Amino acid sequence: MKSTSLEIIEDLKKAGYEAYWAGGCVRDMLLGIQPKDFDIVTSAKPDDIERILEHTVPIGKQFGVILAIKNGHSFEIATFRSDAGYSDGRRPDAVEFTNAREDALRRDFTINAMLYDPSTEQIMDYVDGQKDIRDRLIRFIGNPEERIKEDHLRILRAVRFRNAFDFQYHPETYQAIKKHVHLIENISPNRIADELSKMIMGNSPGRAFEELFEIGALEIIIPELCKLKGLAQPLMYHQEGDVWDHAMKALNSLTDEEIDPNPLPAEPPSLALKWATVLHDIGKYETFAQDQQRIRYDHHAEVGSDIAKKILTRLNFSNKIIDRVHWLIRHHMMIVPLFEMPDGRRRHWFLQAGFEELLELNRADTVGTEPLDLSQYEKLKLLYRHEIAKLKLMPKNLLSGKEIMKICNLPEGEKVGEIIKDLRDKQLSHELKTKADAKKYLLKHFL
Ligand code: ATP
Ligand code: MG
Repeated sequence: MKSTSLEIIEDLKKAGYEAYWAGGCVRDMLLGIQPKDFDIVTSAKPDDIERILEHTVPIGKQFGVILAIKNGHSFEIATFRSDAGYSDGRRPDAVEFTNAREDALRRDFTINAMLYDPSTEQIMDYVDGQKDIRDRLIRFIGNPEERIKEDHLRILRAVRFRNAFDFQYHPETYQAIKKHVHLIENISPNRIADELSKMIMGNSPGRAFEELFEIGALEIIIPELCKLKGLAQPLMYHQEGDVWDHAMKALNSLTDEEIDPNPLPAEPPSLALKWATVLHDIGKYETFAQDQQRIRYDHHAEVGSDIAKKILTRLNFSNKIIDRVHWLIRHHMMIVPLFEMPDGRRRHWFLQAGFEELLELNRADTVGTEPLDLSQYEKLKLLYRHEIAKLKLMPKNLLSGKEIMKICNLPEGEKVGEIIKDLRDKQLSHELKTKADAKKYLLKHFL
């Protein structure tokens, strides 16, 4: 990708234009981080870019942004521009094509505003970005209050970058953020969700949430989560602090490789798992109760899963994410019952699409707890691996969907799916062993 973006820069330069890497990728290079993408800025106008480069898509032509596709990679190429007026606190009313310096000045933070010429290895730094990288500072370019009023999302971006890179704030930047935090109310749910998701997927998500709470942003975005602050836990089982501390510790543990070098699932934690972990105990506020022995939160998993669904729906997350988070939270107290259930029923759980994530959530939940006792998690993980290995050796379904439709005289649809699942459960628990068993069972129960 890097070398392809170099080729594009060369193409633009050969045609007589200036062209540089810009923004995040320059920052990441200076920080010694592998850039995710290489955004390019150029003096060429959108029409010129389209003429010079072979495959382009005009994704934001009126703002001067063209997507170029080359060697299977895509790159955003933007014409030098300055933003003229922000009447909606979100997006510029218009852009004006300008020069490299003006383009740097329209950007949000000094560390995000450097340009780099890869052929001469020269950094163009109009805003002392290198100094701020050295001193590890997040600092708005220009007047912080004005910059926040132009685009309120910059408040959340500041929090994200500070925590992702473990930076500090420049004093005026921090004061402006705190003063104008209420403007977050006006940001669209999608933009908030995107930014929060980037925080949650980045480094130190627990600290980012802590800071969102501190500056008053969380009260506006997810007030339900603020209720976990100071919420008491039974000391016998939870010495790590209040419910909030527990949730944050659990969240941070998901990406802590030292805790379990061999976790399930093998891929990095998904967005759904991350959200499920932050929100897994969100029902504890509503269900808090004391009996003779201890503090309890009966049914907090069910109650919490519904609260989580409400939060994520409000933030406009996709149904796929919402459903998975809902499922994970709803069943996060399933671990003990799993040991007690009949084998076939347990295998049914093991085969659920989200089961590995449920195990992962259990691990995070456990690691977020003091005193730490991973024995149940380890036991279940072993059992799961053992069973799954066995199941992989198992014969295919006794009857195919088509066969079921024919036997039961059913059209394609949900009902057939239900029957397939039912047959599979019975097969796994050895109630049905042969095709003939399955047919007999169908004729008896589904005709
Ligand atoms: P990431 O690693 O998260 O992609 P990034 O810095 O590349 O970080 P992007 O959102 O991809 O962030 O934006 C690319 C660049 O565009 C930024 O580095 C910044 O210079 C500029 N930019 C993005 N969003 C804003 C904004 N809301 N206000 C001002 N400048 C912005
Ligand atoms: Mg980027």
